Order: sequence, then C-alpha cells, then structure tokens
Amino acid sequence: MQKQKSALVYTTALMALAVLLFAAFFLNLLPWTSGSPVDGKTIIEKEPLPEYPPEAETPAPEPEEPDNVPLFEGNINRLPLEMIVDKLSFFQSPIKGAHIGMTAGQLPGAPRSYRNGTHEGVDYYNGFCGVKIVRGTPVLAAAEGVVIRIDHTYEEMTAEERVDYRRISAQSPTTPEDILDKFRGRQVWLEHQGSVISRYAHLDTVSSKLTVGDAVYAGEQIGTVGNSGTPPAITGGDGEMHLHFEIWLNESYLGEGLPAEDVRYLLRRILK
Ligand SMILES: [Zn+2]
Repeated sequence: MQKQKSALVYTTALMALAVLLFAAFFLNLLPWTSGSPVDGKTIIEKEPLPEYPPEAETPAPEPEEPDNVPLFEGNINRLPLEMIVDKLSFFQSPIKGAHIGMTAGQLPGAPRSYRNGTHEGVDYYNGFCGVKIVRGTPVLAAAEGVVIRIDHTYEEMTAEERVDYRRISAQSPTTPEDILDKFRGRQVWLEHQGSVISRYAHLDTVSSKLTVGDAVYAGEQIGTVGNSGTPPAITGGDGEMHLHFEIWLNESYLGEGLPAEDVRYLLRRILK
C-alpha cells in the first residue's frame, strides 16, 4: 500500500514537471507568435530590421570601362572591300560636303619620291572634292572619339631643316617616322571605337577648346585647313593649302597595299 502511494506521488510529480516544461515552452514561444489571428491563421510579425548607418560619402568606384578592343585583328586592308566599308561605316567626311574626287597621287598608297616614301592619307585640295578648300576651312572630327594628340604649340621647320630631312630620307629605306611627322605639319589625332585612329595634318590652327583626353562628337570642328609642314609654309605662302587625312588601325593605314581604284572606292563609301 505504501509502495503504491509513493509510486503515485512520483507519477504526479513527473506529470507536474511535464506540465511546467510544456508551459515554459509556450511562454518562450509566445513572444515570437504574438500576431493576431486572421482567418484562422497567425501572422508572424517580423522583428524590425536593424537600422544601418547612412551610405558612406565616398561614391562607389566607377565600373571599369572595357579596353578599346580593336575593330579587327591584323591588317584591315586584307578584308574584302565590303567588309572594310561595313567596319568603318561610322566615319563621315572631315570636310563638310566634300566628296572623293582625288587623283591617284592624292590617295593613300601613292608614292612620295621627294621623301623616298609613301602617302599614308588622302589629300583634300581645292578643285578635287566639290567644296572650297582655303586657309581656314573648318576641319571636322570624322567620327566621335577622343583627342590623343593636338598640336597647340607648333613651330614650322626652317628651309635648312627641310633640306636636311629630305637628305636623310633619301639615304633611308623609307621616310623615317620622325621626319614624316615633321612633313605632316600641325596635327590632331583622334581615337575612335575599335582602336581606330584618324589623323588630320597640315592644319593652320587647332581648336583652343580641345586638349588630349577630350571627347569630340562627329562633325565637331577640331581645326582649320592650312599648309603647315609643306614648302610654302616656310615662307608663309598659300601654296599646297589642303587637308591631309589618314585612318589607321593596328599599324596599317586605310588603303595600304591596295590599288588606287579600290582605295578610291573605299574612301567614297566610308567618308560620305
Ligand atoms: Zn597628303
């Protein structure tokens, strides 16, 4: 009898403990489930998100611009003509309204015996491109791009220097690049999409508003026609007044190694 009684006490104590644990469990749970029941369901109220400090004053770093991936790997002149036209179709004429009516001698690839070299651009002379080309005719960016060279300070070579440059060129396999650069006179170079570069030479003036790194839009005036770097410039005369314009990609100029009729066709299609 005594045994049965103590067993009952134990059982009751265990049950009481279980009830207490059960209640404790619910009491702990209750703060997380304190939503009001709606349609028989309990909405769980989320704890408010902690407030983060305001964003730092320093702006996030700008995403890195992809490198100017070349439009074409290798010599663009090796492509079929239509593909060259297609790739360079973003260009327009560097002289407003001008067309390509040039003689073979005014095109890229023409020999230049006076300096033992080859012509690397196209010459816009008065009487050959349908518009008046005089000192001061505006020279325009032939496509949108970035200025990579602009000769704000320029000094014309002397007659003696010119004689020296021609002598050195005659003794070289071709015109040395530093001398060729003198013969191009005052210049602006632009870099365009696909690492394509355009060069504008023999300029009389360059835009005072532009400096290296500036973006230019297609058709923006970058300088004016002159004859810097040519013999008449030494004496201040107006002879040989023209724009010399080049397009480069991967160390090759547009028209390099192509027959004159192909070069003329390409320029007519590209520099509209
Ligand atoms: Zn030229």
